[in-house]
Amino acid sequence: MKALQYTRIGSHPEIVEIPKPAPGPGQVLLKVTAAGVCHSDEFVMGLSEEEYTGGGYPLPLTLGHEGAGIVEELGEGVEHLSVGDAVAVYGPWGCGRCQKCAEGKENYCLNAAAEGIKPPGLGAPGSMAEYMLVDDARHLVPLGDLDPVQNVSLTDAGLTPYHAIKTSLPKLGAGSFAVVIGTGGLGHVAIQILRALSGATVIALDVNDEKLALAKEVGAHHTVISDASAAEEIRRLTGGRGANAVFDFVGAEPTIATAVASAATEADVTIVGIGGGTAHVGFGSIAYDAALRVPYWGTRAELIEVLELARSGQVSVEVQRYSLDDGPKAYEALAAGTVRGRAVIVP
Ligand code: NAD
Ligand code: ZN
Repeated sequence: MKALQYTRIGSHPEIVEIPKPAPGPGQVLLKVTAAGVCHSDEFVMGLSEEEYTGGGYPLPLTLGHEGAGIVEELGEGVEHLSVGDAVAVYGPWGCGRCQKCAEGKENYCLNAAAEGIKPPGLGAPGSMAEYMLVDDARHLVPLGDLDPVQNVSLTDAGLTPYHAIKTSLPKLGAGSFAVVIGTGGLGHVAIQILRALSGATVIALDVNDEKLALAKEVGAHHTVISDASAAEEIRRLTGGRGANAVFDFVGAEPTIATAVASAATEADVTIVGIGGGTAHVGFGSIAYDAALRVPYWGTRAELIEVLELARSGQVSVEVQRYSLDDGPKAYEALAAGTVRGRAVIVP
């Protein structure tokens, strides 16, 4: 079968021919219907050799941690799934036995690191291939009549902001303000989730006018160019108080500085982007009682919830389609900053 793989440190991803996998006991083989292209892939492919191997990433690596497919074959012992079922893949695989996994928080599994359990596309073979192996049926959520190409990115670009925002909802009642920094794949979904679940006025920041136009289209009340004066503009828009929750989907030094400087008293400052920045906070350099959070992906229950938001029409992903052969071009577009919403590969 064809797969899009990262094969050498510092190289671009390429299409290769590899054997079609067969499901072992408890595993499920999917015929992939859609695979989303995430900025985290670019982060992984940008690591030095030392960081890459140190992070436990294998070579070659079949990319794709957002996946949807049709059940092709069931491994021995798999129940409650049938060949032909349409499913989405929950990506942050855990051990399934620890206290966090028992809560559905496999993204915070206590044993994954020690047991070498890796998400598909970020260690295990991912969804950018004709077929994909899923380690356990519990990592599949029925898609039903949801279109896989339109909705595959809800498994990360939807789930990650959903998880980040849900925790902060008690601070986002009527009259509150929320800031979204970076209105790309995750950010443009975050704006919709905030509009659907909170009473907040949403202020969106990006460096690019086209991304800000998309932010407006999907529900942002205000858009602000993300530069050194952005925090001042957020203060102006919030009557001097600052925002009750700030979600940074870039995570670079200057965006984290903006996020910290924009926080209201008792705000949540949530850094989702892995842009390499660090928060510098201490008494007097951030509003009183502001909390800093650095979440990762989301829970199994939240994936079910975010798919429900799509089913009820409250969230929809702006998708740019690429064939599997054109997969490398999707990564070029992502690096060039020209993807509107999310690039999705359709094998
Ligand atoms: P993306 O490339 O689709 O979107 C990033 C957006 O940020 C773009 O619109 C870009 O124009 C904008 N941007 C760049 N520099 C900016 C700046 N200085 N100020 C404001 N906006 C700026 O990326 P994505 O796939 O949405 O991922 C966003 C980030 O989240 C990445 O760092 C990714 O690795 C990370 N991520 C984290 C998790 C997690 O669990 N924490 C999960 C998925 C992705
Ligand atoms: Zn991702």
